[in-house]
Amino acid sequence: MTVKERLRPAGNDVLERLAAALGTGGVVPAEPRYLEEPRGRYHGRAAAVLRPDSTEAVATAIRICADARVGVVPYAGGTGLVGGQIMEQAPAPVLLSFERMNGVRSLDLTDNVMVAEAGAILADVRDRAAKAGRLFPLSLASEGTARIGGLLGTNAGGLNVLRYGNARDLCLGVEAVFADGSIHHGLSAVVKDNMGYDLRHLLIGSEGTLGLITAASLRLFPVPSEIATAWVAVPSPRAALDLLGLMRARIGGVISAFELIHRRAFEFLAETMPQIPLPPAFETDWVVLTEAGEGPGANLEARFMDLFETALRAGTCTDGLIAQSEAQRQSFWTVRETIPEANRHVGSISSHDVSIPPSRLAEFIDRAGPALAALEPEVRINCFGHLGDGNLHYNVFPPKGRDRRAFDTMRATVKSIVHDLASELGGSVGAEHGVGRLKVPDLVKYGDPAKLRAMRAIKAALDPAGILNPGAVIEAG
Ligand SMILES: Cc1cc2nc3c(=O)[nH]c(=O)nc-3n(C[C@H](O)[C@H](O)[C@H](O)COP(=O)(O)OP(=O)(O)OC[C@H]3O[C@@H](n4cnc5c(N)ncnc54)[C@H](O)[C@@H]3O)c2cc1C
Repeated sequence: MTVKERLRPAGNDVLERLAAALGTGGVVPAEPRYLEEPRGRYHGRAAAVLRPDSTEAVATAIRICADARVGVVPYAGGTGLVGGQIMEQAPAPVLLSFERMNGVRSLDLTDNVMVAEAGAILADVRDRAAKAGRLFPLSLASEGTARIGGLLGTNAGGLNVLRYGNARDLCLGVEAVFADGSIHHGLSAVVKDNMGYDLRHLLIGSEGTLGLITAASLRLFPVPSEIATAWVAVPSPRAALDLLGLMRARIGGVISAFELIHRRAFEFLAETMPQIPLPPAFETDWVVLTEAGEGPGANLEARFMDLFETALRAGTCTDGLIAQSEAQRQSFWTVRETIPEANRHVGSISSHDVSIPPSRLAEFIDRAGPALAALEPEVRINCFGHLGDGNLHYNVFPPKGRDRRAFDTMRATVKSIVHDLASELGGSVGAEHGVGRLKVPDLVKYGDPAKLRAMRAIKAALDPAGILNPGAVIEAG
């Protein structure tokens, strides 16, 4: 009998104990919004939603669930794209939502650290930092809904990884509840701490399978006073990488974003969300959206002009547009951030979140398209992503006018073509969204066997009854 088979459904007796422990509003019915996810591929089930209002309440709830062998699925903003926050199969677990733990506990301008609770919404955390004259650089299209617990649970990436790193790079420490109900008090404000295993990094990216993050100390940065943002038309992904190399040589580490977008994204936006103002109609298939920020006197716009002229002469770019106002800059980013929604309206056959070493990235794009066209010539590919860190969202759509459901049988083959190639080129098939439930077989197929053994051993040691997010990331033995 597997660990998962030994779990029990959350029956009335357990729910009554939980309700008594968590107080008014602490246990609520699992409304449909908790059981759906952005791409509509998973439909969850849960006996109830727990809404603890403190770390101690989380610990109490976990102890009750451990005692009753009931699965607990942590739930933050529900924007995860790999089904990590959704459990479909019996026995019915409880969802543990952090929505009532959404405060900022402290903000220290000398340490440059903000301690935020797991339920704090990313946009609110960014606003709070901005009001204090600091930048919290994690930024992604779902920031109005995604919460700190989920962002750290998945080690989210987003638009500014090139300069500031992933979520784990922005976190100095976490407070977390383990499967036995014990509380790890790790809200460190120091950068250097080599005292033993770094549990922060074990918990970040573990998608709620090893412990529940209840709060985190987040790193704050200076706000760049000068920002330059531009659309740049490039003849190919290879040219885009050359342009990035030129930018790095000329303006170095202040480039915060370098997004590659195929014109298909603009076609989808025009088709499904015509209210979004698109960039100028460049002649190339590929466009880059790039941004850099620095302190006063950096003269970034002039330096952008200068380097784009060099790139034009070298044939690395063919055209461009530098934002002339904050409103124009925002409108550039609105385009980029709306692409996932347009994709959702069109409906993909299969979506992929892959990382490729930059030296092989153009080869990936050159080979993946023809391999998929051999399967279905009219298939539409919307490839866009964070080129600066090698992360592509390589999404495959049905031919125009066709419904994705007609291609359900093709999905597994499409996925294998994309993932096999990413893996062959030394990349990752789960770059920034995580494993969730969607990529459990991929982790087994593409993962290093020694790493998988170590992961199973860690899971068994920290959660022997397998109650934390059962079935996510790794199947417990
Ligand atoms: C429009 C759109 C754009 C997106 N863009 C990006 C992007 O650019 N980059 C990117 O990386 N992702 C992106 N995502 C994916 C998603 O926003 C991220 O995965 C985000 O980190 C999930 O946060 P959440 O609060 O919604 O978490 P949820 O979806 O609620 O949960 C995600 C995972 O974390 C676990 N979890 C939740 N809370 C905790 C906790 N307190 N402790 C431990 N584990 C926990 C859950 O069980 C689940 O496994 C995008 C999603 C959408 C819909």
